[in-house]
Amino acid sequence: MEKFIETKHSWDLEKEMMTCTYCGFCKGVCPVFDISNWEGVGPRGKVILSYGLREKEIPADDSVMERLYQCTTCANCERRCPSDIKVVDIVENIRKDLVSNGFIYPHHKDVVENVIRTGNPYGETEKVEFKHESKNKAKIGYFVGCTSRYRFPSIAKATISVLEKLGEDFTIVDDVCCGSTIQRIGWSDEAMKDLMNQNLKKIEEKGVEKVVFTCAGCYRMFKKEYPKHVDLNFEVKHIDEEIAGLGAKLKPLRKKITFHDPCHMGRHVGLYEAPRDIIRSIPEAEFVEMELNRSTAQCCGGGGGLRSAFPDYAKEIAGRRIDQASDVGAEMILTSCPFCVTNLNSGKEKRNSDMEVKDLIEVIDQLI
Ligand code: SF4
Ligand code: SF4
Repeated sequence: MEKFIETKHSWDLEKEMMTCTYCGFCKGVCPVFDISNWEGVGPRGKVILSYGLREKEIPADDSVMERLYQCTTCANCERRCPSDIKVVDIVENIRKDLVSNGFIYPHHKDVVENVIRTGNPYGETEKVEFKHESKNKAKIGYFVGCTSRYRFPSIAKATISVLEKLGEDFTIVDDVCCGSTIQRIGWSDEAMKDLMNQNLKKIEEKGVEKVVFTCAGCYRMFKKEYPKHVDLNFEVKHIDEEIAGLGAKLKPLRKKITFHDPCHMGRHVGLYEAPRDIIRSIPEAEFVEMELNRSTAQCCGGGGGLRSAFPDYAKEIAGRRIDQASDVGAEMILTSCPFCVTNLNSGKEKRNSDMEVKDLIEVIDQLI
């Protein structure tokens, strides 16, 4: 299919697109460009393509769609941009224009249909329930998130166990998808707002003062996106922030450990120190930073719909992150997001590496 498209979602971003000086500083840090080496795949190329679509100078077709979906929305390019261009905003809004004009990958369509039909991107119809699920009122609500609930229940179980051991008064939110997956791939705001309202209702029913998250993607949604559309009358915290200051006594772990910053938690929200404080508090563990850390951290490759539409790219990007951890002699790479754990594990397999990949909360549960 080839056609000139209506671009009502990206219309307001004209100034943003025109401010790009095409300097190319962004290219060197783009994990997808690093693999493909196609100009159109780099952040600068994406801005040019988006402008061309908006001005109807180029028609949308499969190749344009491919370039605009080969992006993890990691925001590393924005960090390098001297003109402060919001590349992720441009990419996500032009994706909305592509989707509303009928350009959507079958895998992404499945994800959206699953979310609308079942409340989770995996299409699971039987809710995985955990201890505490039935508790009605508490000070803290734990928002499990779809990946921990349906694909990585060990992370949810570890979180529940840690909160219990620390004596926290908590309950579990009967959550549906936070909306991150459908927003990243360009589905309509209306569907996302509906999910937001469903979650808000479930949280308010529990009367909590604070909601904690183990998924960096859900955390970012509540920290940055929900407040644009709905009023939140509770505090939003990642579990790492919640437990960092509690001074839990940990057993020793004699390992060389590094930390992978999830983009949604790091660059998108700015939470860097809490997980490092926790790792440094593990007796006998040696903490080592990868060369690319905190705001310069390389993405795991799993986000922005890349893993579902271009799994080979996602795996190779994860493999490069595993290489970076190996380069500093780490035996274990910890992170604070089930999605990053999943994708880093596929990179580990690709590299045939014996690096241990774990979510920080699972390790803390074993050490308390
Ligand atoms: S760094 Fe910014 S101004 Fe330079 S090419 Fe990239 S998006 Fe454009
Ligand atoms: S957000 Fe990340 S993947 Fe997307 S263009 Fe920017 S650097 Fe590349």
